[in-house]
Amino acid sequence: MPELPEVETTRKGIQPYLEKATITHVIVRNHSLRWPIDTELAEILTRQTIHTVKRRAKYLLIQCDTGTLMIHLGMSGSLRILEKIEQRNPEKHDHVDITLDNGYLLRYTDPRRFGAILWTDKAIKEHKLIAHLGPEPLLKGFDAEYLYQQAQTKRCSVKTFIMNGQIVVGVGNIYANESLFLSKIYPKTIAQNLTKRQCKELSEQIKSVLNKAIKAGGTSLKDFTKSDGKPGYFAQQLNVYGRKDEACLRCGNKIEHYKETQRATYYCPSCQPSNGTN
Ligand SMILES: [Zn+2]
Repeated sequence: MPELPEVETTRKGIQPYLEKATITHVIVRNHSLRWPIDTELAEILTRQTIHTVKRRAKYLLIQCDTGTLMIHLGMSGSLRILEKIEQRNPEKHDHVDITLDNGYLLRYTDPRRFGAILWTDKAIKEHKLIAHLGPEPLLKGFDAEYLYQQAQTKRCSVKTFIMNGQIVVGVGNIYANESLFLSKIYPKTIAQNLTKRQCKELSEQIKSVLNKAIKAGGTSLKDFTKSDGKPGYFAQQLNVYGRKDEACLRCGNKIEHYKETQRATYYCPSCQPSNGTN
């Protein structure tokens, strides 16, 4: 599943081709994504100029003259830029093409079709999918003090807590596992029992793991027009995720594993000890 770093890298990759370009033509080959694509989308978008390409959580926000095109990559979606001449041969899962007046086209591909392409002419901050989201992890509003305050009333595990999009957006399972390991926090610790020092460490490690992944993505996808369009995960050093029974890179003890609400948790019991009361 494309996580926040993949979405941010996609944004950076497509932005230079989209901004200031005018949409000349839109083809929707398959309307059935997670929510049906508006049957009038092609008509709405044609002749609009794209002003900015932003991101909120995992939504790409393409600001046009009269509204915003929201794109979510779902489980398997991807976007890439093609030169117009390549558009003749769409493949089975190439559902949408947005052609621009600068010789390029934006192609949306999604084999599992859990993604979304939505149009809104209302203020984006008030959109029902955006309005209730927590702060962006890489921006100022997300810090130790914020995390500590939010934790005071939460009786869930810290892992569930940081993966809740109303607390902070974009911390997927891999990044939750990795940031808890780096913070030396036992993943089942009740959020309410986190100390201020732990909240400081955790907020800093979340920023650090996401920034590292974005940096890795930036180097692996330097030229977005030549990417193969497959989202995938960026090659990066993982400390605990997917390393069940392997040796902890810090202390050499065995990495343990359990499942909670179908999500796998990996941790090192000696680096991330339970103190019995957490
Ligand atoms: Zn360890």
